Amino acid sequence: MTEKNKDRDSTNRQQLSDASAKLPNTGFSAKEYNYIFHITDDDIACLEQHRGLLATGSVRFSEIYYNYLFDNPDIADVLYAYERNGGETSEFIRSELAVMLDLFSTRGLKGREQQLVDRGRRHLENGIKPVWVAGAYRLFLDFLRELVGELGLQRRDRGRLGSALLKLVIRDMGLINEGYWGYLLETAGKEFAHTTEQYSRAERLLAGLPQLLWSVDIAENRMLYANYPLQTLYSGALEVPYPFLEDVHEEDQESLLTTWQEAVNGHQATIETRMSLAGAPEHWYRLSLYPTLNHRGRTSEVHCMLEDINVEHDERTQLEQLSTTDSLTGLPNRTLWADHLNMALAASRRVPGSQVAVISLDINHFKMYNDTLGRQVGDSLLRDIAKRLQSVVRESDSLARLGGDQFGILLQPESNAKMAAERVITQILDSFDIPFSCGDKQLSVSLTIGVTCFPDHGTNEEALLMNAETAMYRAKRNSLPYQFFNPVSDVSPAEQLRYSGQIKGALENNEFELFYQPQVDLKTSGIIGAEALLRWQHPTEGTVLPQRIIPVAEQLGMISPITDWVLRTALQQCRQWNSSGKSLPVSINVSARSFQSPRLVDKIEQALQNAGISGEYLEIEITEATLMLDLERAKAVLDRLATFGVTVAIDDFGTGYSSLSYLKKLPVHTLKIDQSFIMDVAFDKQDIAIVRSIIDLGHNLGYRVVAEGVEHSMAWNMLNNLGCDAAQGFHISRPLSEDHFSSWMSDASCSG
Ligand code: C2E
Ligand code: MG
Ligand code: MG
Repeated sequence: MTEKNKDRDSTNRQQLSDASAKLPNTGFSAKEYNYIFHITDDDIACLEQHRGLLATGSVRFSEIYYNYLFDNPDIADVLYAYERNGGETSEFIRSELAVMLDLFSTRGLKGREQQLVDRGRRHLENGIKPVWVAGAYRLFLDFLRELVGELGLQRRDRGRLGSALLKLVIRDMGLINEGYWGYLLETAGKEFAHTTEQYSRAERLLAGLPQLLWSVDIAENRMLYANYPLQTLYSGALEVPYPFLEDVHEEDQESLLTTWQEAVNGHQATIETRMSLAGAPEHWYRLSLYPTLNHRGRTSEVHCMLEDINVEHDERTQLEQLSTTDSLTGLPNRTLWADHLNMALAASRRVPGSQVAVISLDINHFKMYNDTLGRQVGDSLLRDIAKRLQSVVRESDSLARLGGDQFGILLQPESNAKMAAERVITQILDSFDIPFSCGDKQLSVSLTIGVTCFPDHGTNEEALLMNAETAMYRAKRNSLPYQFFNPVSDVSPAEQLRYSGQIKGALENNEFELFYQPQVDLKTSGIIGAEALLRWQHPTEGTVLPQRIIPVAEQLGMISPITDWVLRTALQQCRQWNSSGKSLPVSINVSARSFQSPRLVDKIEQALQNAGISGEYLEIEITEATLMLDLERAKAVLDRLATFGVTVAIDDFGTGYSSLSYLKKLPVHTLKIDQSFIMDVAFDKQDIAIVRSIIDLGHNLGYRVVAEGVEHSMAWNMLNNLGCDAAQGFHISRPLSEDHFSSWMSDASCSG
């Protein structure tokens, strides 16, 4: 206990003893009674003289007394209750009567005072009211008056005896009341002492608490109570409702008053605020308000508690920081980033037409740095990467380390998130052209990036990030620096799981089918070839397109049997066309994984032999990215294919990000301009420029140039004008099943 509190303690005790001192004395004095009542020797002598006669006559009074008790229902009830509680009523009445009539005994005048006082105590204990006692004594007096009259005394003696009896009866009543009074004072004193002790204990407790406590009367807007620490902190009149409002941080004052209003409205309320209590350094405090409601449900009082939570607040902030920050890079972690993303999505939803871009970045071959240079270098590299990324993104955009070597960037709502993402990505990729210094080493680090845009590629945080990762993995597979999510071709992880169990069975159950799409000479409109495109006639999902099949098959290691099947089926079909007199070359698509298979060329040679078809009837389509994976190997494969006449087309040309210099090194025959440039080639100046350049480039290198995705006659005409060689697209025909393709060919040759 502090010195101050000790002082208070002794003051409280002093107050308590002062309070008990003020209690009236519970004792009585028989002498005082006799003095006040003027009970003289003459009175005593007179009573002595007539005692015998009085005693004999008084026996009659017991009947009057019994009737009095039981005729009054309230008194009777008390007597019955006395009986019920195990008391003997008749015994009680007898003794009561005896005390009354004892007036005529030898002790009548002196010596029975205490007995009378005790009687008063007993009455109070048993619930007998003083008025009932007074009533009984009135009857007794009446009776005595009659009795004295009957004694046949001289007038003077009658007067003396009557006066003595009157004094003594009233004295007896007084003594009984003395018992009531004494008992009450004793119990009240005890209770008072008990209450005072309790109060002083509570006050000591409240004074010892570190919290500031106070209560406010709402109707009168005044302080009802303030505990000692609060009184000492702010001496003088305490401001209502907050003695310390001036010390509250300016930004928190309004919310503090709002919280008060909540309590006044009858709700328990809590708020955390910053304050410099009485000029002390700023701390965090928690204010809790507990309203008390009156019988009408209105708040009558509010009890307030203010506690210092600075340590708790610091710990919590630290913990929050730990749980939301990546300790290695100091960037937000996945949890915090997800919060930022959700906020951005909410903001975007409020502005129609606005979009949010979510970018997932993965460091290529990061494991290699860790394994070869050690974890410490790996960690410092990650920190440098984080810094470099941070230098590129705007402050309003949120960069986070999502885990391991994966980072995430969220671009705040924009009208064209795709463009914004492309701008940031270009800056990032450019910034990664500069190697990272690690000790005396210069490390070249590259990234693969996947992007999604809200709302097109997902409407919640989970879907957007998952799809950005899916796009990132596709970019990795295709050796591209970045890819946007493509809802048509990107397979969700759930779908991957579903298909992974079904693809093998699909091959065995003949659920795969090849569709054929014609390629047509732009000058003559004559058919010059057909591209074989995979379809999966799924037993429950209908036709599944290749872009949903190939990535899963590649991941499962199932692509090779599929490519074998496609090769076999397409060549058989080609032989059928040949044998029916419509000889036509067929193109098949070879994925990156299949292209890397060491047995690919052998298999192609074997398949050609099996089908009895010469190599000129087969063209294989590969993407630039596939070629770029290993240029030397690619060249060797293409050279070997060329020996038996198989031609090679570069598919989706223009979407790769590699240099064009590889082209002249490889025996390529055809460039297939990606459909993204063809779709709007009739209207878009930039597309026209790109397509014109590709056509020129292809022709300069001696290649045939085919445009993919020709959907309408305007594109057809434009391509014709630009000197493109051939076209493929819906304008000519959609990919057709084998039967439909044969019919289409017959119709085309008839009309041609
Ligand atoms: P791709 O080789 O570029 O094939 C052209 C795609 O464009 C086909 O989609 C075709 O249906 C579509 N297409 C053709 N003309 C038009 C048009 O005018 N407008 C539009 N919007 N689209 C048009 P499909 O059949 O869905 O194939 C998608 C991709 O899947 C192919 O792109 C190819 O990369 C791959 N693929 C198809 N079959 C196989 C296969 O047997 N093996 C491998 N590894 N990949 C295949
Ligand atoms: Mg193709
Ligand atoms: Mg293509």
